Amino acid sequence: MGRAMEKPAIEGGRPARETKIYYGHQYIDEADVAAVTEVLRHHDLTCGPKIKELEDKLCSLTGAKYAVACSSGTAALHIACLAAGVGEGDEVITTPVTFAASANCALYCGARPVFADIDPETYNIDPHMVEEAVTDRTRAVVAVDYTGQSVAIDPLREICRKHGLTLIEDGAHVIGTKYKGRYNGSLSDMTTFSFHPVKTVTGGEGGAVLTNEESLYKKLLLYRSHGITRDAGLMEHEPDGPWYYEQIDLGFNYRMTDIQAALIISQLDKLPMFSRRRKEIVARYNEAFGRLPQLYVQREIPESDTTRHLYILRIVPEKLTIGRRQFFDALAAENVCCNVHYIPTYYFPYYEKMGYHRGLCPNAEKLYEEILSLPLYYAMTDEDVESVIEAVTKIAVYYGIK
Ligand SMILES: *Cc1c(COP(=O)(O)O)cnc(C)c1O
Repeated sequence: MGRAMEKPAIEGGRPARETKIYYGHQYIDEADVAAVTEVLRHHDLTCGPKIKELEDKLCSLTGAKYAVACSSGTAALHIACLAAGVGEGDEVITTPVTFAASANCALYCGARPVFADIDPETYNIDPHMVEEAVTDRTRAVVAVDYTGQSVAIDPLREICRKHGLTLIEDGAHVIGTKYKGRYNGSLSDMTTFSFHPVKTVTGGEGGAVLTNEESLYKKLLLYRSHGITRDAGLMEHEPDGPWYYEQIDLGFNYRMTDIQAALIISQLDKLPMFSRRRKEIVARYNEAFGRLPQLYVQREIPESDTTRHLYILRIVPEKLTIGRRQFFDALAAENVCCNVHYIPTYYFPYYEKMGYHRGLCPNAEKLYEEILSLPLYYAMTDEDVESVIEAVTKIAVYYGIK
């Protein structure tokens, strides 16, 4: 503990790092560049063979029967809600500790998001709170695998079965994680992925919905592309000729390009490597921060073999003279640039104007006051990791209450 009382940079000490590090960054190699270039030279730019190849790859990775690639994780959530039959007057239960899209997808369908509180230790939606929130109007549950740790799938499935609800897993963080030995992606009625650049695997933008049910799969295909079908079996009229198609529902243009699909396919080849490195970094962080009474380490459930997308640093306010805001600023002065995931969704003015108010989910609100997201991504070097640990330790010890 030689460095125990070292001065933080914000107090005039030397910063833990020379250069800034951010909370997330994509990793693109030459194979990725070649995969994209090949599409540009030889393939259809959209609706081509790379879409099917990606969908097949997501199925073989997760064990899901069907996958529908689409333009973003948000689009994936929207068509999943539509396929679940979510509509005007319905309620959809979700967590406030997530990106806004997990609740917005219910609003897109004319339904009302209902927020259920989180487990204070795992930070994932608490199945007991979900069950308490169920009403006659509930149609679906959107459960977010926050930070990449799987939600409690079995209890959630049981609640959904009992009340006739569709379980949609917002798996934007979860790619690479297994629950009870099986990959998330095949475990809920539908699971959505996001391929935004901060996520573990990227396509620039992109998303997908995975399901084991053929009836849901067919609906997802329709909603992805305008509600248009070329399947004669689904048409109301006799085809006029080979050019003929019909719009039989109202869908969207949520298609992914083959350029994105090629990049995601190439990125998925690196998923085992991405997973391994993320696990190493998380283990190193947990080991270092678990020793400090000023910090609380997120509880891991034994069922989840987690590929972590976000590393959440949580302060113990009773053990520090500073709050989260000052901790965040002190880290920035060390050149460790963090972020905060997430502002509870119902804090946003748009939600406030719909009648949501603070106090709804006390565990989520308390979490929000105490967290920040540390750098976590594949390309971090061991020196990067150690400099983050040095910065965090310096600040926690310096401002710690004995
Ligand atoms: C990123 C994210 C989304 C949205 O994904 P996009 O691809 O950016 O539309 C939805 N839910 C969660 C939890 C996310 O982190």
